[in-house]
Amino acid sequence: MTKPFDIGVEALRQGLPDKNRRDADGAKAPDDRVRAMSELPSASLRARKLRSPEAAAKSFYLETFGCQMNDHDSEKVSGVLLGRGYRAVETPADADLVLYNTCSIREKAAQKVFARLGDWKTTSQGKIIGVLGCVAQQEGEEIFERAPWVSLVCGSASYRRLPDLIAELETGGRRVTGLDLDTDETFETEITRRDNPFRAYLTIIEGCDYSCAYCVVPHTRGPERSRRSDSVLSEVRRLADAGYTEIQLLGQTVNSYRDPSPRGMHFVDLLEAVAAVAGIRRVRFTTSHPNDFTREIVRAIDATPALCDHIHLPVQSGSTPILRAMRRTYTREEYLEKVSWIRAARRPISLTTDVIVGFPGESEADFDETLSLLDAIQCDGVFSFKYSPRPNTLAREMPDAISEEEKGRRLAVLQEHQRQIQIARNQTLVGTEFEVLVDARHAARDQWAGRSTSNRTVNFTSRHQSLLGEYVQTRVTRAGPNSLVGEHVV
Ligand code: SF4
Repeated sequence: MTKPFDIGVEALRQGLPDKNRRDADGAKAPDDRVRAMSELPSASLRARKLRSPEAAAKSFYLETFGCQMNDHDSEKVSGVLLGRGYRAVETPADADLVLYNTCSIREKAAQKVFARLGDWKTTSQGKIIGVLGCVAQQEGEEIFERAPWVSLVCGSASYRRLPDLIAELETGGRRVTGLDLDTDETFETEITRRDNPFRAYLTIIEGCDYSCAYCVVPHTRGPERSRRSDSVLSEVRRLADAGYTEIQLLGQTVNSYRDPSPRGMHFVDLLEAVAAVAGIRRVRFTTSHPNDFTREIVRAIDATPALCDHIHLPVQSGSTPILRAMRRTYTREEYLEKVSWIRAARRPISLTTDVIVGFPGESEADFDETLSLLDAIQCDGVFSFKYSPRPNTLAREMPDAISEEEKGRRLAVLQEHQRQIQIARNQTLVGTEFEVLVDARHAARDQWAGRSTSNRTVNFTSRHQSLLGEYVQTRVTRAGPNSLVGEHVV
């Protein structure tokens, strides 16, 4: 098998568009982090080889919606295309192949994709238009009915077939689909075009074997399948050689990882092995399922400085009856017990979570339970959402729907509640120091921005002119609910 390699920073220097930044609808747009990349050391020179004269003949534009898993899938899809001689362009108008890597977790995101497709109704002549990801899997060939100018529909569980599907289109195929969910394979590429020059994402487990009542993922991403540990570790070593120091391991349920190779590594074994790779200074992982969250994970973080002191552990609700209705497989008390392990660690570990408000049947008392759980766990960030019914989910058929107005009210109450918690927590950090990996420059504010190992953002001033990609020590001078302000400690 040919080995994957990374072309991150060098590709960005050559003007490839950035896919990391989102507009208000969750789609991506260029940002000034990437424009400043010329300050960074080269990560790989091998990308230059991709700029062959033939490559100029074919171009692609890939827009990504949704989560980090989608971001990283797009990095790998871009790698597949670059490997086939395509070049990336900044605008869909300039592209021969226009791809949308889609998200269907919320209705609005799915609608946005069809709005994008509508742009090509009368103007797609000569272009190949494709839909990838969750909307592709969910809507399947119906996409051809709604948007007959689309030629490619491919769900993430079939990405390993993408090279063949694209070859079919290149040789005149009119419509091709990859919608198979019945697979035990993971999507590995010869080339991955990494968009984030500071943090390398790496999927270790795809799909999901849980069946949360509100979630489309088991339907759109297929069954759980882990990547071999030797493949993961050799990619981490290559990333370290390319200059990456921070790795983020990804999976819908990342801590369900089970190595399919004879080594049979468990999640904690893999975490420790990744952290031990020379040159790697930070290892993150997301998203953990509380059911698979063990004391060993906390012990490993305690014992291994390279494992970041941040855990994202989605709770979704503080009410056991609602958790049961959601099919989350744990109770409020069991979740609180896992948080107590985190709080008992020797290192202070930052905790963040996800909450859904307005799930069918959620009473005012259930909602109050969620607020009281937030008081109890004292986390540093909550990603909160209004429940929205999705196709192919159990919850869609559940009675006791809650009005949009009431969902909106609960969301606002919860967000303000958590905001006060974060203000109080962050205030206690004034005067403390954090080492941050600098990943942005805000020229208008004359500030740099970086993240601590606990995933806190520190916006700080410095006399230095060139800090992107550096680890620097900062002292917190002010605190807001979502970020810290500080100064460079020299
Ligand atoms: S664990 Fe539940 S919420 Fe997470 S991806 Fe699986 S089904 Fe969806």
